[in-house]
Amino acid sequence: MSKKNIFIFPGDEIGPEITTEAIKIIDFLNESKMTDIHYEFGDVGGASLDKYNKPITDETLEKARKSDAVLLASVGTPKYDNNTRELKPEHGLLVLRKHLNLYINIRPIFVFNTLSEFSSLKSELINDLDLVIIRELIGDVYFGEPRGFKDVNGDKVGYNTMQYSESEVQRITKFAIDIALKRNKHITSVDKANVLECSQLWRQTVDRIMEGHSNIDLQHMYVDNAAMQIIKNPKQFDVILTPNLFGDILSDAASMLTGSIGLLPSASLSETIGMFEPIHGSAPDIAGKGVVNPIAMILSLAMMFEYTFDRQDLARIIKKSVDDVLESGYFTKDLSQNDYITTNEMGDKILESIKKLC
Ligand code: NAD
Repeated sequence: MSKKNIFIFPGDEIGPEITTEAIKIIDFLNESKMTDIHYEFGDVGGASLDKYNKPITDETLEKARKSDAVLLASVGTPKYDNNTRELKPEHGLLVLRKHLNLYINIRPIFVFNTLSEFSSLKSELINDLDLVIIRELIGDVYFGEPRGFKDVNGDKVGYNTMQYSESEVQRITKFAIDIALKRNKHITSVDKANVLECSQLWRQTVDRIMEGHSNIDLQHMYVDNAAMQIIKNPKQFDVILTPNLFGDILSDAASMLTGSIGLLPSASLSETIGMFEPIHGSAPDIAGKGVVNPIAMILSLAMMFEYTFDRQDLARIIKKSVDDVLESGYFTKDLSQNDYITTNEMGDKILESIKKLC
């Protein structure tokens, strides 16, 4: 593998703990000459506010953009809860996604069958579950203008703008098609076209782009129904294509099917760069106690090998190692309240397993 430069954001609260476990794996792969990865650290969120009084600096954004891939742990800390929007930790993440033009978010939702009993659903509903959520990441109500607060006849009003352009819907739909063609050729596009103009444009555009792809089965589903169906019968889905806001909510709901939010990775892509991060946040309630599950972070590293470095071999080894460790009955506290291993021990077990498979 040629030399790769990755930029790592440990971020806030539990971020540094799970970053340590991913770095153990990178170091091992480098030492055993399976990779040649150079990594550099940067600050985002509260970590950046602490040092620079900004949730991310221009210099950091540029360094991240020039790297081959970005690995990010988690952003957010209650310390800055009362800051204005631009000075909140999470704003740094939104700016980073926008700066890197990461319009594609990929969230695979799969179940380690060893863990099916930890799901909030009956095991027959989720055994062998394997779906992927393709979420548009830099449009929608999170970025639409105008936004803000105003006074309407003495009543304070908060407002945002939900919007999508045809070109934004087109490019994310094309990506969903590429993914669907490699899977079971079934796309469920989520919207709220019965009440929202923005969703009507979404639906019309998806239909137009799908013309000529009669080998893919396309279904449109209102977001309220999609929320219900994910809980009722998740195995009906293959690829879920969704706008930013609906995808944010549906993907967290779907994560519960797998047993713990601490298990699921994500990838965010542009045409030129990928950023890989667990789907969970910074979990301030458990930070510093050694009880965090590092698996979502480790699987995010696996996604980096899969999507950016074209190293399916390493992605497979990491995933198999996680599966083997879970199958051997080792769990962090989110999965086993009384009999659990620490974050550090889980990282070591996975690394041992990787060493055996390499
Ligand atoms: P969260 O995902 O941090 O935590 C939700 C629950 O899941 C908590 O009980 C937490 O302890 C648990 N949890 C999360 N990750 C875990 C792990 N790896 N192992 C074990 N348990 C885990 O969501 P939240 O509590 O709503 O938000 C906390 C902070 O994170 C906020 O500041 C929020 O804005 C931020 N956040 C950041 C991201 C991100 O960085 N992409 C995503 C969501 C939330």
